[in-house]
Amino acid sequence: MNYETVVGLEVHVELSTKSKIFCGCTTEFGGEPNTHVCPVCTGMPGSLPVMNKSVVEFAIRAGLALNCDITRYNKFDRKNYFYPDLPKAYQVSQLYLPICQNGKVEIEVDGVKKYIGIHEIHMEEDAGKLIHDPWDDCTLVDYNRCGVPLLEIVSEADFRSADEVIAYLTKLRDIMMYLGVSDCKMQEGSMRADVNVSVRPVGQKEFGTRSEMKNMNSFKAIFRAINFEAKRQIEILEEGGKVVQETRRWDENKDASFAMRSKENAQDYRYFPEPDLLPIEISESWIEEVESNLPELPEDKRARYISEFGLSEYDAGVITSAKQLAYLFEDTTAICGKPKEACNLIMGELMRLLSETSALPEDINVDPKKAADLINLIADGKINRSVGKEVFEEIFRNDVEPVKYVEEKGLLMLNDDSLVSETIDKVIADNPKSVDDFKSGKEKAFGFLVGQTMKALKGKANPQAVNKILKEKLKSL
Ligand code: ADP
Ligand code: MG
Ligand code: ZN
Repeated sequence: MNYETVVGLEVHVELSTKSKIFCGCTTEFGGEPNTHVCPVCTGMPGSLPVMNKSVVEFAIRAGLALNCDITRYNKFDRKNYFYPDLPKAYQVSQLYLPICQNGKVEIEVDGVKKYIGIHEIHMEEDAGKLIHDPWDDCTLVDYNRCGVPLLEIVSEADFRSADEVIAYLTKLRDIMMYLGVSDCKMQEGSMRADVNVSVRPVGQKEFGTRSEMKNMNSFKAIFRAINFEAKRQIEILEEGGKVVQETRRWDENKDASFAMRSKENAQDYRYFPEPDLLPIEISESWIEEVESNLPELPEDKRARYISEFGLSEYDAGVITSAKQLAYLFEDTTAICGKPKEACNLIMGELMRLLSETSALPEDINVDPKKAADLINLIADGKINRSVGKEVFEEIFRNDVEPVKYVEEKGLLMLNDDSLVSETIDKVIADNPKSVDDFKSGKEKAFGFLVGQTMKALKGKANPQAVNKILKEKLKSL
């Protein structure tokens, strides 16, 4: 029998608001344990939450970008459960009236486009972190993360392969980062996914029983876990067994999932309306204001780069993969008016330097004015391309001023043909063997002679002039 994999995702993103959802504590990652805390976020008796308006605004922004309806009348609910990282013994979340509903996101896999439905997005607070200390055989708790605002983005069970899931997560991350809603650093847990997987015989309408793997924070692990789970469930069904609904844990080292606990039901959480927070009414004018301030999203940028600047689809895709790259490209192009050159600089030298220094796009600190000045120096024939590379590396690493730098280092291109001519005479005289090789048809020797000339001129000659003059001289020998 043929089976189909069905996946639905609950993605949590931590919001990049300055302060927590119900108090003034910082949301900053890290910090000494239990220093970003106060009576509110540690649930001290008698303390009361105060809603952070930015959280609502960020949620509206995300909802609009994911084509959702924004719920005008919002309420919060308490999800009760005991766990040592949750000092209040309940999490404030939204069960009955989530802020965004009925959205969709278009994804593309192998040239096939499809929509993934967004069931809802709700606002909630994060819990703290347990740190298991194997040396002292004890567990410590850090409450710094308690009360950090989260959006939980719940998809429909619309995915039919691990590839579709990765395409969606990549797109979701891009959108959240462009919106400035979250930094989506998976390694710091600011984007993590609960992955629900089931299988069913092809043609069957009803979904099969699912298992859920919680808090997954790497694309690679998610991809492997989905394929592992689907295979495991198919094997059970093939042997005549039944898949049980349960939470499973993905073990990255063992490359396998293991049963953790059978699924708790919603009523186990004894949800009830949060009595300490007022309902929130969102006005139409606020939604309009947020909408008018939405930045251009990566997909629209990509299309515009292709139509307006003539970039290839591949280049446009790479440059829009991080907003820092896109803004560098746009700002540089706006200053120098040379989109192709700006694109080549980013695709070539910048990418090389990023991988060489293991830096991330968000660490880029290249001033677009300096990049534009460099592009103009090359275009105006003031420096050659290899000097251009050196100068760009200096801009990237040390933020140098390109015009000043090439002047001070004496890197301006020599446009003095008589000096080039004299140098070539000397190179020819010093390398009779290469000259003979060239005459007997060895093309390589020509390159060697060009190289020697460039070296003698400290790389500052115009390569076209060197080629032309050398060719003429060798011909007349
Ligand atoms: P819960 O609240 O128990 O986590 P939900 O009904 O809210 O359950 O669903 C959570 C996620 O699981 C959603 O993304 C949904 O699309 C997905 N899901 C539900 N049923 C299945 C299934 N049979 N197979 C795969 N995914 C599923
Ligand atoms: Mg769930
Ligand atoms: Zn606090």
